[in-house]
Amino acid sequence: MSAAAAVHGVDAGPSGALAGAGMRVAGTDVDTSHGPILYLDGVSVSFDGFKALNNLSLTIDDGELRCIIGPNGAGKTTMMDVITGKTRPDAGTAFFGQTIDLAQLTEAEIAHAGIGRKFQKPTVFERHSVFENLELAMKADKRARTAVRARLSGADLERIAETLELIQLRDQVHRPAGLLSHGQKQWLEIGMLLMQEPRLLLLDEPVAGMTDEETLRTAELCQSLAGRHSVVVVEHDMDFIARIARKVTVLHEGSVLAEGPMDTVQADPRVIEVYLGR
Ligand code: ADP
Ligand code: MG
Repeated sequence: MSAAAAVHGVDAGPSGALAGAGMRVAGTDVDTSHGPILYLDGVSVSFDGFKALNNLSLTIDDGELRCIIGPNGAGKTTMMDVITGKTRPDAGTAFFGQTIDLAQLTEAEIAHAGIGRKFQKPTVFERHSVFENLELAMKADKRARTAVRARLSGADLERIAETLELIQLRDQVHRPAGLLSHGQKQWLEIGMLLMQEPRLLLLDEPVAGMTDEETLRTAELCQSLAGRHSVVVVEHDMDFIARIARKVTVLHEGSVLAEGPMDTVQADPRVIEVYLGR
C-alpha cells in the first residue's frame, strides 16, 4: 500500500472529499464502464502535408500505466497535443471514456473534464513555497468548492499532505519552489496536477535532465500513480521505461509500430530496426 493510500485509509472524512480506494471522481463523469478511458481511432495530423500522426489508433484502459516510446519525430508529443485539444486532428476520433468526444471540447474543457498534462519544462511558482504551490493548484481547480480566499478545510490539508507524501517533498514543504532541484520541481509540478484530480495524466519526458537517483524516485512515483489515475508516460530513457513498464506502445512515423510487454517489444525486429537504423 502506498503512503497516499495509507492516508486515505485513516481519513476518509465525512465530507466524502476523500473517496474510497483513493480514486476521486472528476467533475465531469467519464464513462469507463467498458474499460478504456481513452480511445484514439484513425487519428491523422498533417503539418504542411507531412503526416505527424498517420491513422493512429490506441486505447488506454482505466487505471493503466502506459509507456509510449519511439524515435524523435515519431509523433509522441503531437499525440498528447491531440488528446489535450492543442492540435485538432485532420481525421479520426478521440474519445475520453465512452461518451466524451474530445473534438467537441476546448483545451480548458478537456483539462476540466479530467485530463492533466505535464510538459517537459517544469512551471512552478518559484517564489512560493512547495505548500503554496499545491494550495494554488488546488484552488485553481474550478471543481473545488474552496474559494480562493477561503481557509483550507481539514480535507484540503489532508489532500495536500497526501500529495506531499506521494511526490516525496514532505521535508521541503516550506521551501520556495525556486530553490528545489530540477527533479524536485518536476515532482512538484506532478503534485500540482494531482491536486486537480485528473482521471488521465499525460507525462511527456518526465525524467529528462534528472539525476539517476531522481529518475529512480520518479519511477516509484509513476508506479504509485497507476491504478489511482490512468497515466501515459512518453520517455526516451529506456532504463526508466524498463523499470516502470507494463504495456509499452512503440510509435513510428505517426502510427503504432508495436505494442505489448517491454521484453516482447524490445525483441521485435521492426522495433530494433527503427532504433538501430538511425
Ligand atoms: P516526438 O514527440 O515523437 O519526437 P513530435 O510529435 O514532436 O514527435 O513531432 C512529430 C513530427 O511532426 C516531427 O517531424 C515534427 O517536426 C513535426 N511537427 C510537430 N509539431 C509541428 C508543428 N507545429 N509544425 C510543423 N511540424 C511539426
Ligand atoms: Mg516529443
